[in-house]
Amino acid sequence: MNEAFDVAIMGGGPAGSAAGTLLAKAGRRVAIFEKERFPRFSVGESTLPATLNTLERMGVREKIDRGGFLVKHGGEIVSACGQRVRFYFRNGFKAKRSTAYQVLRSEFDKILLDHAAESGCDVRQKTPVESFGIDADGVTLRSGNGGQLVRAQYVIDCSGRNCLIGNRYQLKRRFPDLCKFSLYAYYDDVRREDGPNGTLTRMVRTKDSWFWMIPLQGKTTSIGVVMDAEKFKSMKMSPERALTHCISEQPAVNEWMEKARRVTDVFATGDFSYRNTQLSGNRWLLAGDAAGFIDPVFSSGVYVALLSGEQAADALNIALDRPQQRAKAFRHYERRIGRVLDIYLRWASAWYTQEFVEVFLYPKEIFEIVPTVSAVLSGNEVRDFGMRWRLCIFHTLVALQKRTSKIAPKLTLMPKGT
Ligand SMILES: Cc1cc2nc3c(=O)[nH]c(=O)nc-3n(C[C@H](O)[C@H](O)[C@H](O)COP(=O)(O)OP(=O)(O)OC[C@H]3O[C@@H](n4cnc5c(N)ncnc54)[C@H](O)[C@@H]3O)c2cc1C
Repeated sequence: MNEAFDVAIMGGGPAGSAAGTLLAKAGRRVAIFEKERFPRFSVGESTLPATLNTLERMGVREKIDRGGFLVKHGGEIVSACGQRVRFYFRNGFKAKRSTAYQVLRSEFDKILLDHAAESGCDVRQKTPVESFGIDADGVTLRSGNGGQLVRAQYVIDCSGRNCLIGNRYQLKRRFPDLCKFSLYAYYDDVRREDGPNGTLTRMVRTKDSWFWMIPLQGKTTSIGVVMDAEKFKSMKMSPERALTHCISEQPAVNEWMEKARRVTDVFATGDFSYRNTQLSGNRWLLAGDAAGFIDPVFSSGVYVALLSGEQAADALNIALDRPQQRAKAFRHYERRIGRVLDIYLRWASAWYTQEFVEVFLYPKEIFEIVPTVSAVLSGNEVRDFGMRWRLCIFHTLVALQKRTSKIAPKLTLMPKGT
C-alpha cells in the first residue's frame, strides 16, 4: 500500500530542511527524500545575517551556535590592482543583525537535516527520488529505496541544481552573461588577520575572474575562482593545474597563501546562473537552487534556500488548511521569492561590469548609499522605500560611471606591473 503524507520534499539541503521543519512543527505529515547520507560535502560556506531569521524560526539557532562555526562580520572586496573596501554588517541601513556564520556545509547541513527529523519529519537518507508523477489531487513519488511508492498532497522540489521539476517542465532560463565555471578547494594556514577582520569573506576581482577566500573555523580557508566557462575550456588544464595557475597569477591572492597547503581535492562546478520561469503549480513549489541559482558572488545561495524553504512551508500551511486560498498563497510565494532572485540577479550581472566594481571600490558617502549597499549584502529584501530610492541613486552612479568615468577612478583590475 502507498504511504500517505501531506507534503513530500525532494532533497534535504538547507531549503528542504527549512521547509520540512516548519511544516512538521505545524503538525503536518512530511517526508524528506535525500539521495546522499549526511554529512556530505557541499560548497557555499559564506552566509548572510538574514539567514538567522529563518534559523531562529526553525528553532535551530542554538544548535548552530553549539556547532562552533566562525562568526562572520562582513566582507572585503579587493581589486587585482590593489584597491580595497571593507563592509561590516553592523553598518547596514537599519541593520537588525550584525553577524552571520562561515560554515562547514557538511556539518551545517547535517545539523539542519537532523533538526528536521527531530521536529517530526520522516527523513529518508540515501533515498533518491527516481521518478514522480503530479496529478490534480497530489503527487506520487517513487524512491530508489526498494522502489517504494509514496503519495502526498503536495511536493516541494528542493533538489538543488538537479532541478527535478524545473527540468521536467523545461522552466529553466539561463543568462548568457553569467555562464560561469568555478574551481575550488580547502587550504590550511592561509594568512588571517586577528579579530573581526579575520572573519570577513574576501573577494578579489580581476579583469576576467574573481576569487573567494572564506575563512572557516580552525585554520581552514575555502578558496575558489570563478571565470567564464569558455575561459576554463581554453586553458586546456586539469582543474588542479588551472586553480594553481590562476592563484599564482594574482598577488592579491597569492601573498596570503605563502604558507598555505591544499587539504582537499580541487572541485569544479559549472551550470550557473539560472532561474525558473515559474516557481509553483497546483501541487508543487520550487525552493532553493531548484527555484533558481544566481552566481555565488554575493553569498546569497543559503539565504535564498532557507528563506524560500520557510516561505514554501507558510504557503503550504495555508493551502492545506484553506484550499480555496491556495492560489493566492502560491502567487504571494512566487512574487516574494522571485523578487529576491531578481535582486541578486541584477547585482551579479552588474558585478561582471567594470563600472560597477569601480563605483563599489570607491564608495560615495552620500545619502547613506554605503549602508544601503551593505544592507543588500546582508540579505535585506529591499522592501523599504528608503532603501529603494537610495539603491536607485547607486545604480544611477554606476550608469554615469559607464558613460563618463567621472564618478570613480578607472581601474585596470590587473596586478601592478603587468
Ligand atoms: C561554486 C559555488 C560557490 C557557492 N558559494 C556560496 C556561498 O559562499 N554562500 C552561499 O550562501 N551559497 C553559495 N553557493 C550556493 C549554495 O551552495 C546553494 O545555493 C545552496 O546549497 C542551496 O541549497 P538547497 O537546499 O537549495 O540545495 P542543496 O544544498 O544543493 O541541496 C539539495 C539536496 O538535494 C539532494 N538531491 C538532489 N537530487 C535528488 C533526488 N533525485 N532525490 C533526493 N535528493 C536529491 C542533494 O543530494 C542535496 O543534498 C555556492 C554555489 C556554488 C556552485
